[in-house]
Amino acid sequence: MTTLQYDSLYLFIAGEWLSAEGRDTSPVTNPANGKVIGRVPLATSGDLNRALGVAHTMSKVWECTLPVERAKILKAGADLIRTRADHIATQMTLEEGKPLAESKDEVLRAADYFEWFAEEAKRLDGRFVPANRPNVQQIVKRQAIGPVAAFTPWNFPAITPARKLAAALSAGCSVIIKPGEECPATALALARCLDDAGLPKGVLQMVFGVPDDVSKHLIASQVIRKVTFTGSVPVGRLLAARAAAGVKPITLELGGHGPVLIFNDADIASAAALGAANKFRGTGQICISSTRFLVQRAVYDEFVEHFVAATRALKVGNGMHPGVTIGPLANPRQIAKTEALVADAIQKGARLLTGGQRIASEGYFFEPTILADVPGDAHILSEEPFGPIAVVIPFDEIDDGLSEANRLPYGLSAYAFTSNASTAIKVADGLEAGMIGINQFRIVATELPFGGIKESGIGSEGGLEGIDHYLTNKFISQAY
Ligand code: NAD
Repeated sequence: MTTLQYDSLYLFIAGEWLSAEGRDTSPVTNPANGKVIGRVPLATSGDLNRALGVAHTMSKVWECTLPVERAKILKAGADLIRTRADHIATQMTLEEGKPLAESKDEVLRAADYFEWFAEEAKRLDGRFVPANRPNVQQIVKRQAIGPVAAFTPWNFPAITPARKLAAALSAGCSVIIKPGEECPATALALARCLDDAGLPKGVLQMVFGVPDDVSKHLIASQVIRKVTFTGSVPVGRLLAARAAAGVKPITLELGGHGPVLIFNDADIASAAALGAANKFRGTGQICISSTRFLVQRAVYDEFVEHFVAATRALKVGNGMHPGVTIGPLANPRQIAKTEALVADAIQKGARLLTGGQRIASEGYFFEPTILADVPGDAHILSEEPFGPIAVVIPFDEIDDGLSEANRLPYGLSAYAFTSNASTAIKVADGLEAGMIGINQFRIVATELPFGGIKESGIGSEGGLEGIDHYLTNKFISQAY
């Protein structure tokens, strides 16, 4: 049943749901109207120490739980998430702002990750390697790496925790996760589903706090054997340095600046319509969002016309209202950053094709914005916007398009539209990105690895690759 009530917020430590009880709290705001809807308790260092002790103990218990039992619990968790999807989606739209239908889709996809990795728990096999000496048996085993510290952001409050939790729990690791303080209710609702599904108390613990204090505390602890983070490049770099100090592996899903190459032979109207939908989905606050639309010169004007028309047809508003396709930005920081990027580009000579303004109403709404003729020194051409700004840029030959696409240190997602098979292959080979969409933007699936190269990250989540980081190799060489 759908309810507009915002859930109470807790820490989930040692299997106990702890409310503020004298702890500091941080406000949670509805970005559609700027109103405070809840207060999330912030963990003390005593709370974190308690969580670490429990994570250590429960990692042994969970690792030794039969894979088939782990799978059963994760599958039951997925089923509960589906049953409660309407309620969880409402929580997400209240705290993050995205349209309710998108929130529900995200919750259901989060459930898919738990189901998919539940199955993988049963397939964590090893290798038998024939020896080069007589009377020796050699076995390579894969074992759970141990307690994981996970940090997730606010833009996908269900999918990002789900990708990390599903794989780590499937592998047999205990996890302490700190989701974004801006959107705690969604993550807590997922944890509640796993708890109700019978996950042993303390295998999963969820904390909130001052992000830097929590990550410093957890990563420095000898209990933690693996770190995983989704967020910005600067924070990723900081956490990687902390993990390196303890020689701990880290998985990083960081930012991007998605290029889209549109060739003369593409279906231009379709590329423009799909491009507008993709660019402004999540109000552009998506790491694999397309941002730089690189269009071959002969179809540049035609593309721009369709792209602007499709963008103007989008409906911005409160995600709870039917028909709304674009919600608010997540917080005032995002508004300030978007305004600054647009102002900088225009001041340097860019042409505004549509949008460009904050929408004067309560909440953090900004018009979907397209810029053309952007000079090379404008910040938007090198900084990840993480907001509703697209840039259109003409190019001549395939190599010119590729070199602009690959110019930045990012390498997360890239896209191309062409009807020519050899262009498609050349572009897919030449684009420096971890994920590539040809003639489409739908590149994320439970069964596929999700991750970037260059400064966009280390490692992949999802798919067969997604569980590897939570396992270590151990070989046993036995003489007989
Ligand atoms: P931010 O880097 O300050 O925060 C992003 C997330 O990281 C937040 O949820 C925050 O709680 C967490 N975080 C911040 N500092 C941390 C620390 N020291 N230790 C542990 N966690 C920490 O950025 P922001 O202003 O909230 O978001 C804007 C930028 O973040 C964007 O420009 C984008 O690059 C990046 N971002 C990327 C993704 C992604 O999916 N890769 C998601 C959200 C934000």
